[in-house]
Amino acid sequence: MQYFTDIGLEVHVELSTTTKMFCGCRVVDPTQAQPNTAVCPVCLGMPGTLPVVNKQAVEYAIRAGLALHCTIAERSIFARKNYFYPDLPKGYQISQYEYPITFDGWIPITTAKGEKVIRIHRAHLEEDTGKLNHINDDGISFSLVDLNRAGIPLLEIVTEPDMHTVEEVRAYSQELRLLLRYLGITTGDMEKGAMRFEANVSMREDETAPLGTRVEIKNLNSIHSMERAIEYELKRQQRILEQGGKVSQETLGWNEAKGETFSQRSKEEAHDYRYFPEPDLPPLIVDQTWVDAVAQNMPELPVEKRARYQQELALSAEKADALIQDKATGLFFEQTVASAQDISASVIANWILGDVFSWMNESGQSIEELALSPAALVELIKLHQQHQVNKNSAKEILKEMLQSGRSAQEIITENGLQLISSEDELGKVVTRVLLEHPDEVASYHAGKETVFNWLFGQAMQACQGKGDPQLIRRLLKEALSR
Ligand code: ADP
Ligand code: MG
Ligand code: ZN
Repeated sequence: MQYFTDIGLEVHVELSTTTKMFCGCRVVDPTQAQPNTAVCPVCLGMPGTLPVVNKQAVEYAIRAGLALHCTIAERSIFARKNYFYPDLPKGYQISQYEYPITFDGWIPITTAKGEKVIRIHRAHLEEDTGKLNHINDDGISFSLVDLNRAGIPLLEIVTEPDMHTVEEVRAYSQELRLLLRYLGITTGDMEKGAMRFEANVSMREDETAPLGTRVEIKNLNSIHSMERAIEYELKRQQRILEQGGKVSQETLGWNEAKGETFSQRSKEEAHDYRYFPEPDLPPLIVDQTWVDAVAQNMPELPVEKRARYQQELALSAEKADALIQDKATGLFFEQTVASAQDISASVIANWILGDVFSWMNESGQSIEELALSPAALVELIKLHQQHQVNKNSAKEILKEMLQSGRSAQEIITENGLQLISSEDELGKVVTRVLLEHPDEVASYHAGKETVFNWLFGQAMQACQGKGDPQLIRRLLKEALSR
């Protein structure tokens, strides 16, 4: 039996603001800073302290909301989500509950099956918790609490259950991360926990049946683990349903090593958290003027850039998509196109996506760190197009340019890589080759046309591969038809 799958995602995004959500503490990289060095009485949860909302975090939320086609609430409310855990010093997390800052949006995604829209249910602001480090020292177990992360602003983005395959989950997650990075509101570094995914998964008999009972899978550390966890979960639920059983609503963890989900607890309900409005904060008011100002300063978004590369620069969808995956790459590409009037964008894209990308992979350099400028790349492509160097030499020259930062012309001159493009000189080579191989010439004239390529090879060899191949071909054809 084939069941129908529904998946909704909750994504926690750490905003890269300068300071924390409700206090003036610096936001530090949790993998770099000494534990508990970016804390103050507010984020330590000392009695008598008061929170103050971070304006930059609100602005980032508006930016995300606009990019996700959400409504921006003129008035939203912070709420206390109460629970006890040692990484939460106040005993509650300040979040938003009934009145989030943005809601009802959508984002287009593309899979092999085509384009579709994933609806965004809401995106709300909250604060991050601290981090527990569980230690086992000679049989004695204890946990160390680091509160550097406590109070860092989070934007929780919640979708409707609109994804029905793992491919759609992957496309959504990648597109969302790309979008948020373009907006400059998060590093998006999943390995540092700057983006954390939770997947809600259920199954039903067919698309017309009511939604099935869902499980929520937590602690997924990468998009890849999320895909594995969902695949595992779908098999598990299918087995239960096929045996006539019922899936129980619960919160699951993911064991990466075993490749299995495991039960963490039965699903908590909203009332377990005893949500109530945060008495220490007034309603958050975002007027239209502010929204308009943020809208004015939106950067070009990935969807827009993708479309522009295809429409204005005539790139294929694949090339456009590959170039926009990173803002800096797009910039490098555009600067190269701008400084080369008579080279097609597609040729430039090939050089960047091919040889420049493989160099970056090998060297670990980012595009900003390259010793290659857009103008230098243009010079090389031109020299190749004017038949000054052949393709293989051009590739070698590019490597050398990337290594040393020297110009193509310098390298060509120094290494004598310049193609021979004198008709006189190559004409002599061709004549000599034909004189030296009368038998082959005869069989060419007898109709064995493949001999042409052999003769061409001989001529190329005779000039150490430095002859302009197009010119040699022409001269050879002319000589043979005489
Ligand atoms: P909670 O905050 O308790 O996790 P929400 O109502 O905010 O609950 O829903 C969380 C996520 O679960 C949303 O992304 C939503 O789309 C998804 N979801 C809700 N019902 C289902 C379902 N039956 N199957 C799959 N996902 C679901
Ligand atoms: Mg949830
Ligand atoms: Zn603080």
